[in-house]
Amino acid sequence: MRYLQNGFAMRLPLFSATIRRMACLLLTLMPSLGFSLPLESRVPGGIALVRLGSAAPASPAPRVWLDEQPIWVTRRDNEWIAIVGIGLDTPAGSRELRVEGTTAPPQIRFEIGHKHYPEQHITLKERGRVRLSPENEVRAEREIARIQQLKRHWRDAAETDSNFRQPAEGRLSSHFGLRRFFNGEARAPHNGLDLAVPRGTPVAASAAGSVLGIDDYFFNGKTVFVDHGNGLITMVCHLDRIDVQVGEIVRSGQRLGLSGMTGRASGPHLHWSVVLNGVMVVGALFLK
Ligand code: ZN
Repeated sequence: MRYLQNGFAMRLPLFSATIRRMACLLLTLMPSLGFSLPLESRVPGGIALVRLGSAAPASPAPRVWLDEQPIWVTRRDNEWIAIVGIGLDTPAGSRELRVEGTTAPPQIRFEIGHKHYPEQHITLKERGRVRLSPENEVRAEREIARIQQLKRHWRDAAETDSNFRQPAEGRLSSHFGLRRFFNGEARAPHNGLDLAVPRGTPVAASAAGSVLGIDDYFFNGKTVFVDHGNGLITMVCHLDRIDVQVGEIVRSGQRLGLSGMTGRASGPHLHWSVVLNGVMVVGALFLK
């Protein structure tokens, strides 16, 4: 799930520092709209909820980074909480958040445990999809760079709709985190989950947001990225048809398109990924 092609369109909202500060202030003054926090799971592919200390009334939200990536911060009762996605390739051990604008220390450490994900072996008859031609190699490289850019996209949002729904009803046919082998060769782990749905099944937005990117990738096929704000992004792949445009505001449950088997897919299914602060995390943590 890391490839895309040329002709890609993306619109980055350009917020001035002033507007950003105003948005921060608004966030502080607004009552919580009832979006619940994701479940916590401090393992690779999971989420850490890191307490940043007390939030004085009307105080602006602290800014937090993990390495260079901004981190979503929200207020719960009288406390600031950082909601941190942990990449699948993160080793167990200690990580450090950089914090600005709170009474908490400027560095806060949190621990990440071990998680063993099972192996999945897939046999593909079309060998061109395992060993890439030089042409496809170039295309895939270009797509990796584009998708990385999308995953790291950041938009300040007063509220992030984190009450996710599954994008379609269907049997779970492949779990998140599986260590995959195509024709015996190790590949990137499965960074989303697969739902077995017939071609033409409506695919819904997991939550309210705006369409960040659409394209037709070599591996992922027709794909839609929805930006929910504050580094939370969802992605649906292998679509047969896309019914939204880049920049379009979507509500929770709105149809993004129809499922299919475009790109590298051995049969019709829907791949669903959830990105938090630039890394893929297990989407089930957001499902109620
Ligand atoms: Zn998948």
